[in-house]
Amino acid sequence: MTLMLVSTVLCFITALVLAYVRSGYPSPYRRLLRVWAEALVLQGLGWLAFVLRGTVPDVVSVIFANLLLLAGMQRINHALHLYFERPIPWRRDASLMVAAVLFLIVVQWGWHNVTVRIVGMTLALAWPMVHGLVLIRRHARRPSPPSFRVVAAFLAATVGVLLVRAANQVVGTPVESIVAVHPTQIALHLLATLAPVATALGFALMVATRLQDELAEAANTDPLTGLANRRRVEALARPWIEDPQAPLCALMIDVDHFKRVNDRFGHDAGDEALVWLGSHLRVQARATDLVGRLGGEEFVMLLPGTTAPEAAVLAERLRATVAAMPMSFAAHGDWPLTISVGVAPRTPGDTDVRDLLRRADDAMYAAKRGGRNRVVLAD
Ligand code: GH3
Ligand code: MG
Ligand code: MG
Repeated sequence: MTLMLVSTVLCFITALVLAYVRSGYPSPYRRLLRVWAEALVLQGLGWLAFVLRGTVPDVVSVIFANLLLLAGMQRINHALHLYFERPIPWRRDASLMVAAVLFLIVVQWGWHNVTVRIVGMTLALAWPMVHGLVLIRRHARRPSPPSFRVVAAFLAATVGVLLVRAANQVVGTPVESIVAVHPTQIALHLLATLAPVATALGFALMVATRLQDELAEAANTDPLTGLANRRRVEALARPWIEDPQAPLCALMIDVDHFKRVNDRFGHDAGDEALVWLGSHLRVQARATDLVGRLGGEEFVMLLPGTTAPEAAVLAERLRATVAAMPMSFAAHGDWPLTISVGVAPRTPGDTDVRDLLRRADDAMYAAKRGGRNRVVLAD
């Protein structure tokens, strides 16, 4: 009884903390924390209804208590669905809730049987948690971050204790109600006390992990084209440079007279051309090639496992396809776009990707000096 009162209080306090903490998160994340806080409120109300057993009608302390706990578990499952960007299974949850209502009415007033009630509600309560565990397992990146493991561990432990309690009811010494003192009941109550705090903390950290991932992604991505920016290009190229045996080539690609595009059609049209060129380069690249935008109208391609003659062939194909396809601006019609490309193979002396990029850059400037719309291979 005391433990259930503690569970009630902890659920409410943790919900308040989550509701407070969420104001510090950017808006897409606030909803996740709000839904988890709602789950805690529902669970807290469920435990409160259990605590009141004997002082309030059974319809509250048995039926509502069980349904509130179930709704709380389903809400936790909803938060996990939102987190992993899956549609909330409203219809399935509503069916389970209706089934639980009918089941509780039957075992309470029709066929009064505590064992059947405990086993039935155990399965109903375990279901959203098992589903939540499956979601975490299926969608968490590998290796799964510690925060995911905390949430999964406590959900799994709660399911485990619920199942042991149900099994005990069937094959061991059955208990008469949730307030009875029995080892599995005590284990259940202890977990019910700890799990809301631990899982809520774990979930708040899961949300923080997501935020951290997105910030890292944003710091490494060019927002206009979605290509890797200089930072990511350098980071991804590091292991390639460190392996002196593997062939590696760089293409430095610069749009010719790009300033004229901006001057003639405006900056937005210039952006449109850059996005188009970025996607063209990506389409032409192999899956193992790295395409990046280093800034302005300057793009880079790093081609692991590619020799200089092969890279020159690709560069020429890029140049020719761009030159053959005048850029078609939505608002202004066509404009002939050309690129100059510098090709550089890595040399044994390259210790940093910047050495390689510098030579590709020099070759690209040689192409500019040579009249633009051409490919130059670094010497
Ligand atoms: P060159 O053939 O010698 O490369 O001539 P260019 O005009 O392409 O080269 P320059 O370096 O003189 O000008 C580059 C222009 O690219 C200047 C700048 O306005 C434009 N630019 C740089 N970044 C962006 C961008 O993000 N969006 C747009 N629309 N324009 C950009
Ligand atoms: Mg240019
Ligand atoms: Mg330039």
